[in-house]
Amino acid sequence: EKTQNLERSKKEIDEKNKRLEAFQEEINKKAEDLAVASKYKSEFLANMSHELRTPLNSLLLLAKLLSENKEKNLTEDQLESAGIIYKSGRDLLSLINEILDLSKIEAGKMDVAVSEFLVKDFGDHLEKLFRHMADEKNLQLIIGFDDTCPLSVTSDIKRVEQILKNLVSNAIKFTEKGSVQIDFFSPEKEVQYYRPDLSGQPVFAVSVTDTGIGIPSDRLDSIFERFIQVEQSNTRQYEGSGLGLSIAKAYVDLLQGEIWVESKLNSGSTFYVSLPPLKLNNGS
Ligand code: ADP
Repeated sequence: EKTQNLERSKKEIDEKNKRLEAFQEEINKKAEDLAVASKYKSEFLANMSHELRTPLNSLLLLAKLLSENKEKNLTEDQLESAGIIYKSGRDLLSLINEILDLSKIEAGKMDVAVSEFLVKDFGDHLEKLFRHMADEKNLQLIIGFDDTCPLSVTSDIKRVEQILKNLVSNAIKFTEKGSVQIDFFSPEKEVQYYRPDLSGQPVFAVSVTDTGIGIPSDRLDSIFERFIQVEQSNTRQYEGSGLGLSIAKAYVDLLQGEIWVESKLNSGSTFYVSLPPLKLNNGS
């Protein structure tokens, strides 16, 4: 009887193993299919955005020429329309660029080019980029370099710039009066990160603080998702695609860092980005 039982369980185990193997095969096949599909998807998006950008660029060029009204033969209304065509075309172009960026990150096609750059030069560059926008809205733009801030950082300067461009342009967009402040610092060693590998590293951090409309506390997590905008009515007064923060978050992940936000409705928001030093690409 014992032998029979043993044989029966052996048979059962064999059967289970066979089923497991079949499952494993199926999973492998699905993973392969997925990789192929996502490769096709990103190739499709890359080709598509190229095809879209080419006619769009000529449309932009012509609309710009038209709105300059060199021949002085356009009426006010016609000029306004040309201006709207130009502006909408530009918005469309930046949307296409954003979607392309996201799909490249998703397909793992975004390279990280690490170099060492000076924080002061980087801050001055950001100030130059945004001074005009802030002045136009009568906002104070303050750049602060804390004593804890390292002199130089090793990371991908282009991506860091893209992250901060998104944060600072949002800060200016969602602030009607007061200030936008960018601070460079190094957090205290005891800070708890949600990425455990950041602890104990000489982390470089930037915060962007505004005195704008703020974000309701129940929306703080969702704003990093794609196409999420806090206020989505037809009468929305702010422009944008709802992709800026998803791209910023994807870049922060790519650079192995963290991004988070603190905000108070009607008082303002602070976005924090913490980045670890990355190894230079030449291995040093
Ligand atoms: P958008 O193109 O709409 O700016 P983002 O992904 O950059 O898209 O931001 C998503 C949403 O998060 C915004 O639409 C806005 O509702 C909210 N948000 C982002 N930054 C701020 C800020 N500094 N102050 C208030 N709300 C913000």
